Amino acid sequence: MVSPFTLRFKLLFYFMQTKTQQEQVMIIRTAAHLGMCFGVRDAISAAKRQAAQGSLTVLGDLVHNPGVNSELKRRGIKTTRHYQNAQSDSVMITAHGTSNNTRRALEASPLRVYDATCPLVHHAHRELETLVAKGCFPIIIGVEGHVEVTGLVGDLEDYRILISESDFATVPTHPHFGIVAQTTQPLDRVRSLVAAFQATFPEAKVEFRDTICQPTKNRQRAARSLAEISDVMIVIGGKHSNNTHELVAVCSKHCDQVHHVQEASDLMDCWFQPGDEIGITAGTSTPEDQIQSVIQHLENLAHRTPSRPAQSGAEQFTRAPWAKVEV
Ligand code: SF4
Repeated sequence: MVSPFTLRFKLLFYFMQTKTQQEQVMIIRTAAHLGMCFGVRDAISAAKRQAAQGSLTVLGDLVHNPGVNSELKRRGIKTTRHYQNAQSDSVMITAHGTSNNTRRALEASPLRVYDATCPLVHHAHRELETLVAKGCFPIIIGVEGHVEVTGLVGDLEDYRILISESDFATVPTHPHFGIVAQTTQPLDRVRSLVAAFQATFPEAKVEFRDTICQPTKNRQRAARSLAEISDVMIVIGGKHSNNTHELVAVCSKHCDQVHHVQEASDLMDCWFQPGDEIGITAGTSTPEDQIQSVIQHLENLAHRTPSRPAQSGAEQFTRAPWAKVEV
C-alpha cells in the first residue's frame, strides 16, 4: 500500500520529470502561409510546358531561387535580360511583368512571346496607369532596379522610386501624388512611408493604392506571428529574393535568432539547442521540396540531440498543428 506522502512525492517527481522532458523537446513549426505563390508556380509550369515543345529564353530570372533556376537550365531554358540577345524563337516575360513599351517592342519582333506576368502585377500596373491618367505624379515604393519596379516605371516619363524617408528629398513639388507599392513590399513599411509622405507634403493631395499582393501579406503576417513565439526562425529562399529578405526583416523584429538559408545544407547544427522552438517560413519563390528538406534536416537533428531524454522519436519531435495553407 502506497502512503499518501509517497504518492504525493511520486506525483511531484513525475510532473518535474515531465516538465524537464518537455523543456528538452525541440518544437518545429511551419508558418501558416509560406513558400511558392501561385504567380511564380504558374510561370514555372508555363516555362516547362513551352520548353518541352521548343527552345525558350526567359527575359530575366523566372524566379530568384538558384535551385529552381538550375532545374530550368537543365531543361534547356535559357535566360537573358535583353530580348535582342535571345537565342531561341520564343521568349517569356516573367511573373514580375514588364512595361507596355517592352511588350510593344516584343510584338514587333519576330519572336513568339509568352507572357507569364502575374495577374497581381498586372493589377499594380493598372492602378498606376489610373493614377497617372488622373494627373498624379507617380511614386513607387519599392526597390530601384528590381525587375518588377523597372517594369512599373518603364512607360513613365517622370516618377520617383522610394524605399525610405531619406528619398523624399528627391521628390519634386506637385499638387497631386499617386503612390503604388511593389507587390512584395511589407505592408507596415508602406503604410508608414505613405503617412510620412503626406506629413512631408501637407499641401499636396496624396492618393495611395495598396498594390501589395495578398500572398505577400499572408506570408509576412504568418511569419510575424510565428517569430513572436519562436527561439529560432529559419527563412528559406534565394539570396537575391527581395520578398525573402523582407521576411527576414519582419522576423528579425520579433525573434533574436533569424537565419536565412537557401537550402538544407546551409543549416548549422550549432544554431539549435535542445528545447528550442523553431519556426520555418519561406519566400514566394521557394519550392515545396526545399522546405521539406529543411524540415527533414531539423527532424533528424531533433532525433539525435544527445542531451534529450530517452523517449521514442515520435514523442521527442513535436510538430505543432500549424496549418500550412497554400494560396
Ligand atoms: S509575389 Fe505576389 S505578385 Fe509576385 S508572383 Fe507571387 S502572387 Fe504574384
